[in-house]
Amino acid sequence: MFRKIFIQNFVNPVIWKYIKWSKRFDIFSDIQIIEKKSLESNLISQRKKLFEMIKYCDVNIAYYNKIIKDNSIKYTVDTINEDIKKFPILNKDILKKEFNNLKNSKFNWNFITNRSWWSTWEPVKFLQNSEFLDEIWAMKMLFNKRAWRNEWEYMIKLWWSDSDIIKWSQWLRWFLVKNFMNFEILNSFNLNPKLMDKYVSYINKTKPCVIEAYTQSIYEFANYIKLNQIKIYSPKWIITSAWTLYPYMRSLIEEVFNCKVYNRYWTREVWDIWCTCEEWSFHINTWNHYLEILDDKKNHVNNWETWKIYITTLNNYIMPLIRYEIWDIWTKNDIENYICKCWRWLPIVKNIEGREMSVFKTKDWKIIAWEFFIHFIWVVHNKWFIEKFQVIQEDYNQIRIKVILKDKVSFENEKNHLTQNIKKVMWDNCNIIFETVKEIPSLPSWKYLYTISNIK
Ligand SMILES: [Zn+2]
Repeated sequence: MFRKIFIQNFVNPVIWKYIKWSKRFDIFSDIQIIEKKSLESNLISQRKKLFEMIKYCDVNIAYYNKIIKDNSIKYTVDTINEDIKKFPILNKDILKKEFNNLKNSKFNWNFITNRSWWSTWEPVKFLQNSEFLDEIWAMKMLFNKRAWRNEWEYMIKLWWSDSDIIKWSQWLRWFLVKNFMNFEILNSFNLNPKLMDKYVSYINKTKPCVIEAYTQSIYEFANYIKLNQIKIYSPKWIITSAWTLYPYMRSLIEEVFNCKVYNRYWTREVWDIWCTCEEWSFHINTWNHYLEILDDKKNHVNNWETWKIYITTLNNYIMPLIRYEIWDIWTKNDIENYICKCWRWLPIVKNIEGREMSVFKTKDWKIIAWEFFIHFIWVVHNKWFIEKFQVIQEDYNQIRIKVILKDKVSFENEKNHLTQNIKKVMWDNCNIIFETVKEIPSLPSWKYLYTISNIK
């Protein structure tokens, strides 16, 4: 406890203030004013950035240079919002196929290779240069500021943590990051009453400034606290992400923790897309993205009741994405350019909808988050042999995993290891059945489910 107080109040502020290990702090001071500028001026600077990015792609990115030439696309800074509509949609399949043509090969260093693992399909690989990551982190810091948290203040993350199965090098990396960034991770993949009691005591003892959590995990946690009438410390804010926060979830979490909740959405391809405010509007990250919401007719796809979201990245120069399709979320509203009651001058989207997943439960209230399977299969065991999967809890002791295979031999070699590790996190006498299939159908309006529970 003393160590935490010492780190939080003396060590971390000094580190954060004086060690400028990236440009993100400078960018952060610059962008703090954007919310206070007029909406018009923010849209103008976004338009200029979009124009510059298209110009850059024309010169440096083979894939886009060909599209511009083949379609004789003309663009100017004043007409860029219309000109961009002439570009085709970029989806995961094209990203995979055109990977080499989408990157600027002049970048030899100073970038990372990232992977999307929220995807239903096998993860997609893409590149992000370090300047882009600085811009993204600066925006994340601005969003964190909405929760009244300074970067050095103590935070608890109700998050994934597979430290019992990951390699020690990853464990060491996390250990250093956690201490430097002053946060602690409480594993939410595998909640059970004993663990939740432990987490309650831990939160009451360490009094975090903010709790950041997977939406569904904090909802289940709040549910447990309320049902058992347990006393819990109230942080300044709770930040939820990675899942749709429905009004019934938000009101329960706010009631139990006696604080406000805000919701942030990000994907690994483009990072933070938006963040809610006190008025519950989703304010768009115009600093890093140009966002379009398109209906089915514009995309020539039938029977879609809702509109999908497409993003053009404005700061990633190694692999710019133009009109990249965001798969897991959709909306029924267009972008609105009106002034929110919170007085933040950034465009708004209302009513975001997203993945609808089931958590898995045992008879004795142990809860396994659906994120576990996605993370576990795609990231921990990711050897590119599974193309698509779906996990179904058929009974308390039976889990069926439907898989479309890419490489049968590698899958058979890994199957036992995968089964043992899933049992380790779930429960030992659980029967895990792998079923190889040719197709896993989506629900209408592409609401594909990774996890289904037949337990009511
Ligand atoms: Zn607002």
